[in-house]
Amino acid sequence: MSLQDKVALVTGGSRGIGRAVALRLAAMGAMTIVNYVSRPEAAQAVADEIARAGGRAEISQFNVADSAATEAAIKKIMDDHGRLDILVNNAGITRDGLLVKMKEEQWDEVLATNLKGAFTCTKAVSRAMMKQRWGRIVNISSVIGFAGNAGQSNYAAAKAGLVGLTRSVARELAPRNITVNGVAPGYIVTDMTKDLPEEINQRIRAEIPLGVLGEAEDVAGAVAYLVSDEARYVTGQFIHVNGGMYMG
Ligand code: NDP
Repeated sequence: MSLQDKVALVTGGSRGIGRAVALRLAAMGAMTIVNYVSRPEAAQAVADEIARAGGRAEISQFNVADSAATEAAIKKIMDDHGRLDILVNNAGITRDGLLVKMKEEQWDEVLATNLKGAFTCTKAVSRAMMKQRWGRIVNISSVIGFAGNAGQSNYAAAKAGLVGLTRSVARELAPRNITVNGVAPGYIVTDMTKDLPEEINQRIRAEIPLGVLGEAEDVAGAVAYLVSDEARYVTGQFIHVNGGMYMG
């Protein structure tokens, strides 16, 4: 599964799941662009780790919710490298709250980052991928986008929106040999979930048939498959990486 001649962009690649995905794609040989929004030191640490392992990486700061900044950064990546083959739309945030108490800004921020961000990045890379007649796009959704969750209506709507985006763009880009798929993680140990109260952690574990929370590397493994040649006939699909807590 060599990605030796490929250039990959991982949004939110500086921490958690994105970090594991970036390390994995780089280990497969891809020149890997690690995007971040606010913590350059975390992104640089990922790039350094990749370099120490003999891989190739660069960091790129942009806020996926800012369309103009995102388009400009992706154009620069494509100008610098002459191509972009793999896009992993991973950047995501939560702003939880029950619907009756949810502020409009909480809704807008989550939709702008988790859903519109994926639209902007996908649109920005798709023309180049169409010309290359090869591309792999992977959208990181969530079990919450399929099952829903009290207190996360904004996040669930954004993550379910990614499913519709994935399936529609998969149909549009398939004639140009570009696959568009998604991964729907369950509860994965990252900064996003590390501060959950122990009581909630216990409740979550009780709902997971495999009995443990997942690791970022579990998600990276699914992404690695979807970008590989082995997955060339797979498009418009979601791989659920959730310990069995939701089975579709
Ligand atoms: P983390 O909070 O650990 O990391 C978030 C990453 O996204 C960071 O690299 C952060 O950059 C980046 N980021 C946040 N906002 C933006 C933005 N506006 N533009 C660019 N980058 C941004 O998250 P996880 O690793 O836990 O989650 C990654 C993805 O997986 C998200 O889409 C999340 O919804 C999804 N997911 C996570 C699950 C989990 O249990 N952890 C379960 C299901 C889905 P910086 O370091 O600069 O802030």
